[in-house]
Amino acid sequence: MSLESAEEWVKDRSREKVDPWNFPIQYLKGVGAKIAELLESQSFHSLWDILFFLPRDYQDRRKLASYEELLEAARNGDAMMSKGKLEKYFMRYSPRSRRRWMEAKVSVKQEQNGFPAEVQFLWFQKQLEYIKKNFPEGSEIVFSGKASLYRGRPQLSHPQMQKTSTELSPWEFGSVIPIYRELGGLSTRVLRKILFHAIYREELSSIPSSLPESLEKKYSFPNFMESLREVHFPKRWNPLDSERVDSPHFRRLAFEELFYMSLALKMKKDGQSEESLKKVASFSAQNSEIKKLLDALPFELTEDQQSSLKEILKECSSTKKSMQRMLQGDVGAGKTVVAFIPMILSAQAGFQAALLAPTEILANQHFQNLIHLFPELSHRAVLLKGALTPKQKEKIRAQIASGEVDLIVGTHALLTESTHFKNLGLVVIDEQHRFGVEQRLFLKNQGEWDPHMLVMTATPIPRSLALTLYGDLELSVIKTKPKGRKPIETHMVTSPAKLKSTLRKLLEEGRQVYMVYPLVEESEELDLKDVKTAQKDWQKVFPELGIGLIHGKQKSSEKEKILRKFIEGELSILIATTVIEVGVDVPNATVMVIHHAERFGLSQLHQLRGRVGRGSQQSYCYLMTRPRLNEEAQQRLKILCDSNDGFKIAERDLELRGPGEFLGQRQSGIGGFRVAHALGDIGILESAISESRQILEEDPKLQKAENKALNFYLEKWWGDRIKFAQGS
Ligand code: ADP
Ligand code: MG
Repeated sequence: MSLESAEEWVKDRSREKVDPWNFPIQYLKGVGAKIAELLESQSFHSLWDILFFLPRDYQDRRKLASYEELLEAARNGDAMMSKGKLEKYFMRYSPRSRRRWMEAKVSVKQEQNGFPAEVQFLWFQKQLEYIKKNFPEGSEIVFSGKASLYRGRPQLSHPQMQKTSTELSPWEFGSVIPIYRELGGLSTRVLRKILFHAIYREELSSIPSSLPESLEKKYSFPNFMESLREVHFPKRWNPLDSERVDSPHFRRLAFEELFYMSLALKMKKDGQSEESLKKVASFSAQNSEIKKLLDALPFELTEDQQSSLKEILKECSSTKKSMQRMLQGDVGAGKTVVAFIPMILSAQAGFQAALLAPTEILANQHFQNLIHLFPELSHRAVLLKGALTPKQKEKIRAQIASGEVDLIVGTHALLTESTHFKNLGLVVIDEQHRFGVEQRLFLKNQGEWDPHMLVMTATPIPRSLALTLYGDLELSVIKTKPKGRKPIETHMVTSPAKLKSTLRKLLEEGRQVYMVYPLVEESEELDLKDVKTAQKDWQKVFPELGIGLIHGKQKSSEKEKILRKFIEGELSILIATTVIEVGVDVPNATVMVIHHAERFGLSQLHQLRGRVGRGSQQSYCYLMTRPRLNEEAQQRLKILCDSNDGFKIAERDLELRGPGEFLGQRQSGIGGFRVAHALGDIGILESAISESRQILEEDPKLQKAENKALNFYLEKWWGDRIKFAQGS
């Protein structure tokens, strides 16, 4: 059985026609009530949803391997498919490990002389009786799996088997087979069967094209359904010869997803600007006023800080158009102070300024910094965060609404319906990638005036994507860091003993250490157990030192208390999950240890590393990894050891992994990409954006007859993810 007749295979067995868009997942072949529940819990509700769960890899099961080929595969640890006879089962038990398992002797024909040779199968699971019953000794079978070499013979554990006397399932044998990532406990085998029966459903072959014909022609894109089918069960394209991202089918789907994202965002934005005819909150300041503020700083601004500030102030004085600007600067470059100055000038001109930060720790720090640098303004500044009592929050919101305060620092607590600004003139968003489109627009629409927007980021995002997310966006860049910063020495470490001795030396010199563990399990509870154990273990290694633990599940008062102890030197080591990722500033902490470094993205590692290197002392970063890393992971981490330049690192990351990471949830703020998160090529992103722009220019509301399908698919692709309807 091969894929050539896959449509027939599915057709014969499907009973009635269904609506592909709303067909409940539960009624798909291979899905029962229990599996449906699991899929629902992962946000797969309909036939349409499941179509976009793409394989992570493929396996060649087109040809039956001879014994010799099987042996070769075993030497390389490759997966293989072959045919043979199941000769005999053996039950085994090891008293030492108290393990029970089953072995089978299987004979496979040798190409060379036609004689059978022995292959061994192994099973450790519980369904041994089931296997024996279904494949009795003497069965002729087709099998596949990853082979390894054991005592000179090929060995396969938990192979996939089918009797040659039954018709072979085309989603398992005879073609290039997709490998899916495990989903809510469902194995790739289960998913493969579901996807196969879903994707070849007859009603899917007649759905209307999801891109304008002119675009399909222009880019020579294959048909939509054909693309989906080829990406799941390739018939023509061979994923084993080329990367998935090189496939025209994958590219088409990625283009489409980005095209609709861009359409959705632009329509949303246009809808909103039609409504808002507010006057620009224009303000300007005398040079002497600016100088007075700068003189109050304990340091001189770097050249890049000065030029960025100039650009910002110039735009804020415009009466025609409000500012939309991104301030890019590597971690530690000094972005915050560049935002403080226009905030204060805005307040002095009679407009409120708001600074939004992604975490309470960071919001706290900004607020403290602000009133520390400019104590005379403290009575006009407030900090609004989730950890306050309802009464305190209510009081602060009243002060914001009345205009009694005009320097407002806050977290997500600023973004609730009950917050009303009197006359917001400037919005600053720190670590922009942590916020969504919706959240930025919420602040933009506050008050009677059209406020200026300044978004700050340490990781540069591709310009075309930035334009899509923010509309017309100007850019200021702080390239050089303040003088006197030494580059952070970064090393990869695999030996815990070596790490301990290195840390001991540094701690004896009085240095403080951050130690970060990633969240790895699906359950946060389990992860917390892990870091708590880590804290105990390190306490045993350094019994005389204070070791604190900080994580996302703690109350913010608790977090603040621990952080304060660290700042004051009472704690020598601060163990953390990634909550410290952004912004914390403790100059005496000069050592950063990142455990399981291979699990983080490069930009994130760089951000974490940026917590040290803030004082004048030499700082160190240790990337702990498991001993045998693959080539790619090593290469990636080496970039970090070789460079301290966040922009370079982001560029290399973009080259190595494509813009996928930027499109991931946290970076783009829209999240939930189904296809494009694996995109390896920035070109597609750019053309998808420019094409969508062109269509909207001619037909801003997609009302023309030829664009009707666009409206339909727009809703399908992004309806639940970007609320783009007017008035939302
Ligand atoms: P980031 O760009 O990562 O947000 P911050 O604004 O937190 O960086 O600045 C990092 C540190 O550098 C802060 O302690 C800040 O006070 C200090 N800093 C900022 N500008 C200068 C400067 N021109 N000279 C010396 N130190 C500076
Ligand atoms: Mg910062």
